[in-house]
Amino acid sequence: MKKAVFPGSFDPLTLGHFDIINRALPLFDEVVIAIGINADKEYMFSLEQRIDFIKKTFQNEPKISVTTYKGLTVNYCKEINADFILRGLRNPSDFEFEKAIAITNRKLSGIETVFLLTSAETSYISSSIVRDIIRNNGDASILVPKIVLQ
Ligand code: ADP
Repeated sequence: MKKAVFPGSFDPLTLGHFDIINRALPLFDEVVIAIGINADKEYMFSLEQRIDFIKKTFQNEPKISVTTYKGLTVNYCKEINADFILRGLRNPSDFEFEKAIAITNRKLSGIETVFLLTSAETSYISSSIVRDIIRNNGDASILVPKIVLQ
């Protein structure tokens, strides 16, 4: 069974994440969206809210589940028997950053990282831009699933 972990902060889930997750579905039997918990990081949305956005957005998709984890992503993958890490690439700087992590993860654990290129329509979207818009009372409706705005 092909199981992938899609790790991230998802603060909040955006249409960029949504696009990558949907395009990963034909490739894997199961996609676990795993929210990494970092005690030193400040988040705009609580962990419960971030889980809720993802659960509601994918409520009709049985291949997708949502979990949280602490520590190294590869250790979490081993724990739940996932052989793949899924990541999205938007631009060359994503690639440079992700490349070093993916090679390190493979050396540490043998786990392969599968990269999907974002679609052109969502390549400019990032959670940090969404947070900026929301913080300043702007309209983020073209960037996030509807549930995030409710
Ligand atoms: P992290 O804190 O690990 O960067 P994010 O929640 O920001 O977590 O992102 C999780 C994953 O989603 C990363 O692989 C990131 O590259 C990808 N991603 C974020 N936004 C987009 C987008 N607009 N298009 C494609 N992939 C994206």
